[in-house]
Amino acid sequence: MTLSPAQRAEELRELIRHHDRLYYELDAPEVPDADYDALVRELTSIEADHPDLLTPDSPTQKVSGAAVVTVFAPVEHAVAMMSLDNAMSAEELRAWGDRTARRLAELGGAATHPGYVCELKIDGLAVSLRYEQGVFVQGATRGDGRVGEDVTANLRTIEGIPDRLGPDAPEVLEVRGEVYLPVTVFEEINRAQLEAGLRLYVNPRNTAAGSLRQKDPAVTATRRLAFWSYQLGEVAGGPRFGGHHETLEFLAALGFPVNPETRVLPSIDEVYAYCRDWQEHRHDLAYEIDGVVVKVDDLVLRDQLGVTSKAPRWAIAYKFPPEERTTKLLDIQVSIGRTGRATPFAVLEPVFVGGSTVGMATLHNQDQVAAKDVRPGDTVIVRKAGDVIPEVVGPVLSERPEGLEAWTFPSVCPVCGTVLVRPDGEADHRCPNEACPARVAGAIEHFASRGAMDIEGFGEQRVQLFQSLGMLHDIADLYSLDLDRVRALEGFGDTSVANLVAAIEASTQRPLSRLLVGLNIRHLGGAGSEALAAHFGHLDRIMAASPEELADVEGVGPVIAASVHDWFADDGNRALVERLRAAGINLEGPAAAQVPQTLVGMSVVVTGTLERFNREEIETTIKAHGGRSPGSVSKKTTAVVVGADPGASKLTRAVELGVPVLDEAGFEHLLATGEVVPVATEP
Ligand code: NAD
Repeated sequence: MTLSPAQRAEELRELIRHHDRLYYELDAPEVPDADYDALVRELTSIEADHPDLLTPDSPTQKVSGAAVVTVFAPVEHAVAMMSLDNAMSAEELRAWGDRTARRLAELGGAATHPGYVCELKIDGLAVSLRYEQGVFVQGATRGDGRVGEDVTANLRTIEGIPDRLGPDAPEVLEVRGEVYLPVTVFEEINRAQLEAGLRLYVNPRNTAAGSLRQKDPAVTATRRLAFWSYQLGEVAGGPRFGGHHETLEFLAALGFPVNPETRVLPSIDEVYAYCRDWQEHRHDLAYEIDGVVVKVDDLVLRDQLGVTSKAPRWAIAYKFPPEERTTKLLDIQVSIGRTGRATPFAVLEPVFVGGSTVGMATLHNQDQVAAKDVRPGDTVIVRKAGDVIPEVVGPVLSERPEGLEAWTFPSVCPVCGTVLVRPDGEADHRCPNEACPARVAGAIEHFASRGAMDIEGFGEQRVQLFQSLGMLHDIADLYSLDLDRVRALEGFGDTSVANLVAAIEASTQRPLSRLLVGLNIRHLGGAGSEALAAHFGHLDRIMAASPEELADVEGVGPVIAASVHDWFADDGNRALVERLRAAGINLEGPAAAQVPQTLVGMSVVVTGTLERFNREEIETTIKAHGGRSPGSVSKKTTAVVVGADPGASKLTRAVELGVPVLDEAGFEHLLATGEVVPVATEP
């Protein structure tokens, strides 16, 4: 049944009020902002087409916020705390610029290019701080814009909110700004939730709001909230200002935190460039932003422009495209990696989010699925932030079909049917069957990958094709492929077969260390392989070495040594090596050499996954080269090496402190030469 515009408008208003209540009062929204914004936009458009349907109490006409009656005492704002109009594109931003200029011209020919202050739009919650005679006397949330909630005691726990101002403070000063939760603190809070088996918080913004609006300020104090100031409210007895940027300088001089990225720009073109720049670099910051707030600088012009019932006409929020959307969780499946690790992943109805279409997202392990409580059939929130892999945040509980069963981890491997094991104290399940076709495929792909034998054009699809045709059972089969059969396969011509042969042939002459990496020995990565190859000089000597002899090698600990020894003690593995030898693979390493002491006096921090070094080896390698590898970034850090899926905090801290950032190639260069060649982190 199609609804009339009047019915749909009513339905939308009800839905918006429902989401407002969850968002502002309970700090627990159930849909992403993009979904909420779509409802508001639809209502705005119906009201524009049917002005008779517009009511003064429509959510499009007023500041939404928490109800006046909450556990906190009401505080009437001397100057209303307003919302902001939004621009979602360059066109909407320009349209606002034109509108502002036109209005100013109509008002008496004032400057048409007033100059704009651009500020990051911090994703937290707005508060107002009142100082009398320089003493902090009251702090409040925005509430409905007119009346907020008294959260003075909670605000006092926030570092960065001064209790007292200097002797130059005005008689009355109201400071507006955003309380927010730094990303690293949010991640720490969620790690603790996961360890305690509790539900995960959805995002820093709502966690910040929930943390500030606690009945007990002692709880707020544990959350390590932070604050940026960006606006004056009521002021009595203070200096007079010509531009908004001067008010920010004044706030900074009084000791309030003012965001250092704020800029005054002369034209909308430059404003737009600033917006685009931050859209691209938003994740370089230690806190979340969801856009840029653009404010007319000249305070006289601002007064002339005035406000609507909901927002000032002199400001606009340029909003970034959403990084969270809802979609259907069609299924949860489990993939098996080369080490047998069983990783659950979400199969999603494809959704465009964070700049690309997402159809799958990892769910990491059993505990993560449980903590998120997502079930096949749920509507879920999907998040894709920057280069980070997509993530399922959680379910939209109100849309959960009745009787939807919780997902349980499969008891057997989906590929070979072997019973999966989850060792005590570990988060992952594993398929213990070494002959599991998924493990074998993963092992062959790994053998052929860039960090190992580097066989070009031999990726996942070809491995699976040859495997499914019974032509490939292990890595040694690569060197005895039935080329006539390959040539007869669809998609293989003489050229592609010749390329394949050449790539396989070239791999026979890789250094011994690459072969060791390719053998897929647990715990042994690039650096350990290099150390073994350099020390023993031949695979036969490594095979003959005792665990003690292996562990004696600089850069190889007892765990790697035991694992290497066990691997070569296995008859099946020894037979595999003999077939590789027969295929003419190089088994000789470089002559034993001292590890060059290139990192003496240096401190190198690594974050994320590197291709040629595993976790255990990174530290030993750095130490073997004479350097140190502490767990966190400080001013004394020589360089931060960033691999895939880096921790946001280390990278952000490096950028903040101006510590050079290296990629894996830069790391290898550093090990070899001691020279720091950073990758470009800024354009
Ligand atoms: P808004 O968040 O778009 O803009 C106004 C707010 O921006 C201010 O109150 C202030 O808190 C903040 N801000 C951050 N940096 C600022 C700066 N430098 N200068 C000035 N203000 C700054 O508008 P709104 O009315 O607060 O709320 C709408 C937002 O809330 C939308 O993003 C909407 O999606 C979200 N919302 C979501 C749900 C949901 O269910 N997901 C429900 C209600 C509202």
